[in-house]
Amino acid sequence: MKNAKRVYLALFIVLLWSVNSVAYQNTKTVKLLSTWKAHLAEVESAKAQEQEDWSKIQLKATKVAGSIYMIDMVEGGDGFAGGNIGVSIGSDGIVLVDDMFAPLAPKIFAVLKTLSDKPVRFVINTHVHGDHTSGNVAFGATATIIAHANTRQQLATQGADSKDKPVPAVALPVITVDERLTLHQNGEDIRLIHFPKAHSDTDVAVFFTQSNVVHLGDMYFSGMFPFIGRGGSIKGLIAAIEKVLNDIPANAKIIPGHGSLSNTVELRATLMMLKETSAIVEDGIKKKQSLKQMTEAKVFAKFDKWAHGYINADQFLEQMYKVLTR
Ligand SMILES: [Zn+2]
Repeated sequence: MKNAKRVYLALFIVLLWSVNSVAYQNTKTVKLLSTWKAHLAEVESAKAQEQEDWSKIQLKATKVAGSIYMIDMVEGGDGFAGGNIGVSIGSDGIVLVDDMFAPLAPKIFAVLKTLSDKPVRFVINTHVHGDHTSGNVAFGATATIIAHANTRQQLATQGADSKDKPVPAVALPVITVDERLTLHQNGEDIRLIHFPKAHSDTDVAVFFTQSNVVHLGDMYFSGMFPFIGRGGSIKGLIAAIEKVLNDIPANAKIIPGHGSLSNTVELRATLMMLKETSAIVEDGIKKKQSLKQMTEAKVFAKFDKWAHGYINADQFLEQMYKVLTR
């Protein structure tokens, strides 16, 4: 992933993290976070005022397998488009998994036009966060939105990122999933399975059974340290990834919430990293070590290659510590 793209992603994560997190005792961290938030505010207001940043964003579709495509940013592009979109095309119409940000909807439609002349019939939200659901407001008027019951409940009461306003009714899911649901479209059994307390408390994985593809939403950041949001847990995330790896064929293609198109080998490497890093922190907590002591001891030094943007090993350690002690 291009560095600029990672920086924008990191800024977005920091915004979610600061919204979701409890008060920080470490004043240095507070200072750092507020600097990042200021950067983000700049980015957001620049976008809102001039729409320059949205206009710079270029989207592309990549064939994944069977009748499934992935839409993400053109490599080397500037800005942050949001989470990767999964697309199923066929005689019934288009099924989207996630829909980025509302101002990008015309660009998403333009890319879809190159794949199919059918309308978008269904939009599935992998989870509540705004970088995956903000496009609902553009798609909801003509397509049926499907999501976990908690996604609908949160969008209807607090918006996508807990500090927002409720979203307009048109952007709300109209079909909700509690545990699982199968959508039969385009000759595909599209299976939605809920994983509790993973990246959030709203996650569904979307399995395209015949095409042998799964979209994991933000339960998977490929090649990067993940972000664990409000309602999520590291144990739940590890359990979810283990279950997915157990259930899908070894040659399945995996669309991550963020990062490049991936596969089971890379997902397994992420699983190992999550198990090792969480075990290190759990061990430190058991030995009554503080976050400061673990940071100074550089306990995550060997995981540096998973860093992206501002989410370096120290930041991931801090997140892991807070997730494990909350
Ligand atoms: Zn997310």
